[in-house]
Amino acid sequence: MPVDTAVGDPWGPLTGSRPRPAAPLWVAMYHSVTHTTDDPYRITVSPRRFERQLRWLRRRGLKGVSMAELIRARTAGTVQGLVGLTFDDGYADFTAEALALLRRYECTATVFVLPGLLGSTNEWDPLGPRKPLLDERGIQQAATWGMEVASHGLRHLDLTHADEDTLRREVHESRQLLLDLVGHDVAGFCYPYGAVDLRAVAAVRAAGYQYACAIDPGPLTGRYALPRVHVGERDTAWRLHLKRALHRWRRHEPADLPEGP
Ligand SMILES: [Zn+2]
Repeated sequence: MPVDTAVGDPWGPLTGSRPRPAAPLWVAMYHSVTHTTDDPYRITVSPRRFERQLRWLRRRGLKGVSMAELIRARTAGTVQGLVGLTFDDGYADFTAEALALLRRYECTATVFVLPGLLGSTNEWDPLGPRKPLLDERGIQQAATWGMEVASHGLRHLDLTHADEDTLRREVHESRQLLLDLVGHDVAGFCYPYGAVDLRAVAAVRAAGYQYACAIDPGPLTGRYALPRVHVGERDTAWRLHLKRALHRWRRHEPADLPEGP
């Protein structure tokens, strides 16, 4: 059953007439920021490369912001020049490496954490290497410094293969645990592996989230399945330029941010 989240939505209505169509939201997907040569899933960007990417944004008059900020700006019609910055899995290097750089470049970001694996490691990646995840203190530190803390589920499960109970727990309990931990609203969800279907979207909406990030959700694209662009160590200024141009060309979002199916 569709839930009309536009009613009573603190970000305001999502639909309505606009003078001209807005550009599609551009959201970068990061994972880990640290030095490593062992990176089979290409989820790690070095602090040096990350800083160059933030500098690239600034040179082009763009500003990296959290998803909550990006969506608020979209609703207010002030999204021009903003780029969403997201960090999946909540690696401990978010506070150790990324946070200081984000602050230096006056950016905010959203970190999607796993409250069922606090202080643990990325045990879901069979090839490793093992990377430590943020614990309670790290998550609170990220929130204190102005970063948006949002949910990636409890234990990094593919929700399209989860039974009803598991799906509900991953989506609801993770939100509740984070609410208790950071003491304010937890607006966002991010589907592990970018794996999303109609059932997962419905569960995320029912749990009270206000948006959700995917990777390449195709026809499910909308407020509860936002596409993102992977950004990694190989992304030099030229490649970023190309990715941004391609994104604008590939995504044909309507002027308002659709609720999705
Ligand atoms: Zn993940």
